[in-house]
Amino acid sequence: MTESTVGQRAESMTNDQGGFPAQEQEPPGSTSAMDPVPDHGEETYKGSGKLEGLRALVTGGDSGIGRAVAIAFAREGADVALSYLPDEQEDAESTAELVRAAGRTAVLCPGDLTAEATCEQVVEKSVQELGGLDVLVNNAGAQWARDEGLEQMSSERMDRIFKTNLYALMWMTRAALPHLGKGASIINVSSIQAWEPSTTLLDYAATKAAINNFTVNLAAEVGPRGIRVNAVAPGPIWTPLQPATKPAEAMEEFGADTPLGRAGQPSEVAPAFVFLASPRDASYVSGTVLGVTGGKPVF
Ligand code: NAD
Ligand code: MG
Repeated sequence: MTESTVGQRAESMTNDQGGFPAQEQEPPGSTSAMDPVPDHGEETYKGSGKLEGLRALVTGGDSGIGRAVAIAFAREGADVALSYLPDEQEDAESTAELVRAAGRTAVLCPGDLTAEATCEQVVEKSVQELGGLDVLVNNAGAQWARDEGLEQMSSERMDRIFKTNLYALMWMTRAALPHLGKGASIINVSSIQAWEPSTTLLDYAATKAAINNFTVNLAAEVGPRGIRVNAVAPGPIWTPLQPATKPAEAMEEFGADTPLGRAGQPSEVAPAFVFLASPRDASYVSGTVLGVTGGKPVF
């Protein structure tokens, strides 16, 4: 039997429309409740020492894109701290097991990052248990797409989306910076929504546009210290975030409107993070936003 490529595996997981069976979960969503369970590169990702000896903190590292990043980073030789919501303990332990199976250290940091003090505690715990910090991946994110328009949007929702996607990212980064030295890097998670916003994601899309601006500006601020700042902008990716925040039927055509005609799997996004984190491969790459969108433009 010939070995299938990651893309072939990803394609075989979608239906004729490029989407998935109708399904819904409550936030934050769990991996095992998904049909099909996403591909995080468990069977396919092969490391080659690109991140040997680095220490990384990945927010939202329990599931989805964060889990794929944790697996890839560990197989490339990095120790990984994972931050996640307390409700996601089961997903976080599965990811930690995969990191340890790669022979690396996994540190578990449960906590709600919409509180400033929690962000500081998560950074401190990671630094202490990893013995320092070289890469911060600001990947935690929240969205909600089951309401109808701005007039129905609660202030509680706006607060949660902006605090999770923007405030937490700034609090985490501010707490991490004193620990980052020359060659270290920060990778933020943007979205295709920054360029092509959906009306149902008005607040979420605005936070992602702000993250792009923040990325470029912070790169200018900390560049003189030898710290690189970049972002990855995913298109539609099959993760718990989707069934946990959108109507069930939206899953049936999820990703079908991309040039490649399907959603991506977390395993197809992780290599972009490995590249940006690598002090050798991406030594001159800072202030950029790398699209992994199935063909949609990010400029
Ligand atoms: P996911 O649900 O697997 O991951 C999001 C994670 O964010 C959760 O696992 C959770 O641990 C964390 N999180 C949410 N609120 C939090 C809080 N208050 N405190 C601490 N952690 C919190 O989904 P994902 O799709 O892998 O999302 C990862 C990132 O990718 C997000 O920033 C998301 O906006 C972005 N993104 C996703 C897609 C997609 O189609 N899946 C597309 C573009 C961008
Ligand atoms: Mg999760």
